[in-house]
Amino acid sequence: MLRIAVIGGGPAGLFAAIRAAKRGARVSIIEKMKSPGRKLLISGSGQCNLSHAGEIEYFLSRYGEAGRFLRPALFHFSPRDLLRFFEDRGVSFETEEGGKIFPKSRRARDILQVLLREIEGLNVQLLTASPVSSVGHGPDGFTLTTSMQQTGSWDRVIIAAGGASYPATGSDGSGFSLAAQLGHSIVEPRPALTDVAICSFRMKELAGISIKGCCVLHFRGDKLLARLSGDLLITHTGFSGPVIMDASRNIRCGDTLVPDFGGLGSGTADALRCFAEKNGKKQIKSVSRLLACPEALLEQLLSTAGIEGGIRLGELSREKRRHLAETIAGSRYTVASTGDFRDARVTAGGVDRREINPKNMESRILPGLFFAGEVMDIDGDTGGFNLQAAFSTGALAGDNSDLKDQ
Ligand SMILES: Cc1cc2nc3c(=O)[nH]c(=O)nc-3n(C[C@H](O)[C@H](O)[C@H](O)COP(=O)(O)OP(=O)(O)OC[C@H]3O[C@@H](n4cnc5c(N)ncnc54)[C@H](O)[C@@H]3O)c2cc1C
Repeated sequence: MLRIAVIGGGPAGLFAAIRAAKRGARVSIIEKMKSPGRKLLISGSGQCNLSHAGEIEYFLSRYGEAGRFLRPALFHFSPRDLLRFFEDRGVSFETEEGGKIFPKSRRARDILQVLLREIEGLNVQLLTASPVSSVGHGPDGFTLTTSMQQTGSWDRVIIAAGGASYPATGSDGSGFSLAAQLGHSIVEPRPALTDVAICSFRMKELAGISIKGCCVLHFRGDKLLARLSGDLLITHTGFSGPVIMDASRNIRCGDTLVPDFGGLGSGTADALRCFAEKNGKKQIKSVSRLLACPEALLEQLLSTAGIEGGIRLGELSREKRRHLAETIAGSRYTVASTGDFRDARVTAGGVDRREINPKNMESRILPGLFFAGEVMDIDGDTGGFNLQAAFSTGALAGDNSDLKDQ
């Protein structure tokens, strides 16, 4: 019977182990932390945005250049297959407006429990508190060394040790060193899906407020780099939410972000004028009816524009009105920094995709070595794309790791 070691007990490793064990291999998961799946447990703020309702072609457009590489994995084990796997084991799902899919219970631990029950049922050995520090390969197969001991020899190894983000969950980048020990190149790991901090940020007290479908212009110097659109979240230090996180891989310190808080863009000044003409006796605060932003944010914008909340619309001078429109839709926020690995939701970079066969996740450098999940140079947008990639590549690696012709 083939002996397969899976390094890392995150979603990719757990799922690779399940699929390999189903095909009759003797599988051990070697996990660094005292318990597996720690990042999965905090995914989607503990609610686990497992996947997305889009078609596979849409998925492929959400991983940047890695989309092509992921095509075979996503067709081999599709988003539909993933949901069916959990539905067959009692989990129901709901889809949010916008396509994000969550378990109905909104508990990531329900997802983890299914995976743990499954590996138990398949007699997969789970070694915890066992960080793998080195991996070698010789005539008798692979050898792994943990901080405690050598773990014997293995016919196949699947490296599923995750990226370098949120190192407190266990994925601290050591998977990259293990891959490098076996001859693989590593594309420089970078934090991705991060918040951005804004210079002299004056909205701290609004932290937690989110603006749905906010348009944000992204400038470098005077050059407009991108028109972004999506939900924006105000934090203690700047901006977050899908619109910022998805763009964060392209945002640099010193760039300028111009959010359109009111949702009226370049029409804001005209809309304010028309509204003021019709509602001259009403207090300025009543423009909240016109704008997409929450009232607390409007109050802050009024104060930034130097306008008292009690003033009537008819009393607002043309200059003040223009200034207010500019503050709502044209304020420029300079990026002080993007997040680091401590708060990046995923890692961009990792094991070079060119050295992995996308049809089976096997190393092109060392037969018998496989990869699954974020340890590879793949990172997706927010919305369930990263977990889906972890499960799909885990399935593909697990299903191919027992093939005898290696
Ligand atoms: C706060 C947060 C929220 C997120 N929310 C979502 C979401 O809602 N939807 C979504 O799609 N994605 C989300 N993600 C991203 C998603 O969680 C990851 O992409 C996914 O967990 C990657 O799975 P993985 O199995 O490849 O790696 P990981 O989940 O990182 O698992 C790797 C495992 O390997 C172990 N390991 C590492 N090194 C070693 C070693 N040397 N020896 C032994 N074991 C080792 C680690 O301890 C860990 O258990 C989120 C990420 C974060 C940080």
